[in-house]
Amino acid sequence: ATMAKVHNYSAGPCILPQEVFEEASKAVLNFDNLGLSILEISHRSKNFVAVMEEARSLVKELLNVPDGYTVLFLQGGASTGFLMSAYNMMRENKKGGYLNTGAWAKKAMKEGNFMGKAVEVASSADKNYSYIPKGYSIPSDIDYLHYTSNNTIAGTQFKAVPETNVPLVCDMSSDIFSKEIDVSKFDIIYAGAQKNMGPAGTTLYIVKDEILGKSSVPVPTMLDLKTHADKDSMFNTPPVYPVYVSMLNLRWLKKNGGVAAIEKVNNAKAELLYAEIDRNPLFKGTTAVEDRSNMNVTFVLNDEGLTDKFNELLANANISGLKGHRSVGGFRASMYNALPLSSVQVLVDTMQELEKIS
Ligand code: PLP
Repeated sequence: ATMAKVHNYSAGPCILPQEVFEEASKAVLNFDNLGLSILEISHRSKNFVAVMEEARSLVKELLNVPDGYTVLFLQGGASTGFLMSAYNMMRENKKGGYLNTGAWAKKAMKEGNFMGKAVEVASSADKNYSYIPKGYSIPSDIDYLHYTSNNTIAGTQFKAVPETNVPLVCDMSSDIFSKEIDVSKFDIIYAGAQKNMGPAGTTLYIVKDEILGKSSVPVPTMLDLKTHADKDSMFNTPPVYPVYVSMLNLRWLKKNGGVAAIEKVNNAKAELLYAEIDRNPLFKGTTAVEDRSNMNVTFVLNDEGLTDKFNELLANANISGLKGHRSVGGFRASMYNALPLSSVQVLVDTMQELEKIS
């Protein structure tokens, strides 16, 4: 007997389609019919080098990465990306500009102060990060502008790339591969794998080759993107299993129509759930309507007294992971690529059931 399907609304880490998990599990015991686990073969073997190369080329294909960019699978999480992007982008001003749209942006800003100065260009802290700042002016004496494309905790998302002439750095951890992007606008894109791409343990970097080796501050070897670009993402032992599973998931995405196709599904999921939040008098969204995230939908019950009843209905419907982040409270429905539209219908039905009985 198979287990009843759980509708997984968890914010992470690593929400992937069942078939990807199944295929990934096989390689733990016998990879490529070698009679060896993928975990024990040499990362310099041709079998693993082929995995790394396919993973890198699938990223290029799926995101239409133009010539002049290098794709890397590194370690350290997006939290190291905060530091690495700043180290690699500091130029004569030794100043980075930051759009402070939430907890992750703030952490990025903190790291920017280690080797230079992080300047807050705009912020939505005044309203608990419930909106994306607009109408700010960007100083001309910054070496780069950093922003977080999707704010996993607050539930807001940039609907357009900020207009600027300075080099652009973006943390796309929680919306990469969920919608089409124009990579040519960016100097560095980085993303922890563990939402739409693969298991925790690897971090994707898409880097404009022009910026490599141009920092105005001394960069430690492991934090220098040139170190990794020069060695085709194999300077040191790569996180072999997260790269392998990411590669399988990117194959799955390609087979299912790529980023344009998944974007349509993601839009349909978001429209369905936000429409119910706006229609159902028991619920209220917590973010500005025009800045609502398609990945992480944050909302509250108007009457907190209904919380236990709602949680009971959610459990009965096999819905898990809906609890809001501890800093925001309420509910957060994370709807990454692997969550089907049918699961969102189950959630909407459950919200309507609560309305009927209360
Ligand atoms: N940036 C964003 C937008 C995130 O959502 C997260 C984690 O969820 C991070 C950064 C931190 O990533 P990591 O845990 O890989 O360091």
